[in-house]
Amino acid sequence: MSWAGASDGTTVSVSAEGWNVVVDSEPGPLVQAVPVAALAAAAIGMAELFRIVFADILGARGRRKPQPGAINLITSGESGGHLPSPAGPIAIGRVHLAGAGAIGQACAAALAVSGVTGTLVAVDPEAVELSNLQRYVLTTDQSVGEPKTAILRKALVRCGLDVEEVATAWGADDRSGPTADVVLVALDTPGDRIAVQAGLPRLVSNAWTQPADLGCSRHERFGVDPCLACLYWPTRPRPNRHELIAAALGEHELRVLTHIVTGLPVDVPLPEGIIPTVRDIPAPSEASQWSHRSLLDDVADAAGLDAAARGRWHGCTIDQLYREGICGGALVTTTLRGVPQEVVVPVAHQSALAGVLLAAQLLVAVDPQLAALRPEATEVRYDVLQGLPQVLARPRKITKGCLCQDRDFQIVFGAYESDNS
Ligand SMILES: [Zn+2]
Repeated sequence: MSWAGASDGTTVSVSAEGWNVVVDSEPGPLVQAVPVAALAAAAIGMAELFRIVFADILGARGRRKPQPGAINLITSGESGGHLPSPAGPIAIGRVHLAGAGAIGQACAAALAVSGVTGTLVAVDPEAVELSNLQRYVLTTDQSVGEPKTAILRKALVRCGLDVEEVATAWGADDRSGPTADVVLVALDTPGDRIAVQAGLPRLVSNAWTQPADLGCSRHERFGVDPCLACLYWPTRPRPNRHELIAAALGEHELRVLTHIVTGLPVDVPLPEGIIPTVRDIPAPSEASQWSHRSLLDDVADAAGLDAAARGRWHGCTIDQLYREGICGGALVTTTLRGVPQEVVVPVAHQSALAGVLLAAQLLVAVDPQLAALRPEATEVRYDVLQGLPQVLARPRKITKGCLCQDRDFQIVFGAYESDNS
């Protein structure tokens, strides 16, 4: 028998049974869901609702018919049958959470309802900002200005998990960094992730969001399987800061570089003769205009900002214009084409699902019986704008030149393992 939803896809059915998430299908025999499966089902249900509401805008990615399918959170396959559920409290030991933002909060919330015991060392130097609230599952309007680690400690106060707050950057003091044994990684930048791996934790679980898609990966056999740094190892030169800003603002690199090196505000035209001679960046023909018009005027014209809106940037440096105008979103709507991927804000259910999958990955990793059922591929991806069915497990290769292929790192990791076995 099959589930009968509206043929135009405007009815969504989601359920959870055991470790399975089931969409648009008749639920199987009644089996109690593990809490992470129920949470994942809720997030995937929201993703389908989003695809219905925004179907016209999303084009081919909008939802227009039922899309039956299932996901098993252990095997990453369509259905794992009835795999064992934890019988009692799950002891996770001492686990570090690197990053208490949208993914980190969803992960902590999922662990809290999963009956785990142990210590979660929450590491994040930032406080909550107003723009965070739309996708942070543990915050309220009153949370703005509070340290992100404090939000976690308060939210988890009544569960079996003790939270230790470390309100500094990863590795900034000896409560994080190379002393960490098991790390849940919910950080924003490739550089921060590589820094976690360089501390050689025994077990790493990692989750991320990127436009439309989310993923998580596990890293346990350093030097044998791809490590966390393999996923983010630079395989081509990274753009310089002036290149990044120039691309995002749609401005010439030399003009941006001149503002960076002189510190001149963006609303002031560049004085005659101030533009430096840079061997690799010849001045374009329009450079003569830069002493008559300000960079702000050109960017604001391209973004369609009126005089009042551009007044906000008077006296600002080019770094401030980039941080608040592009990363903060004030200019994003009209200059999106040039925005680097790292500054595109994910949708709420996307971050939540990434966090839930991160928690599920830890729960499976600490149970040898369940860990043995995982797929060989160490990476899982889910596109929140596609619906089911999807292929989740993704094979990965070691990245040539990565630190996991460095003999010194391998020796230290080997020694570390034997010390702790
Ligand atoms: Zn590696």
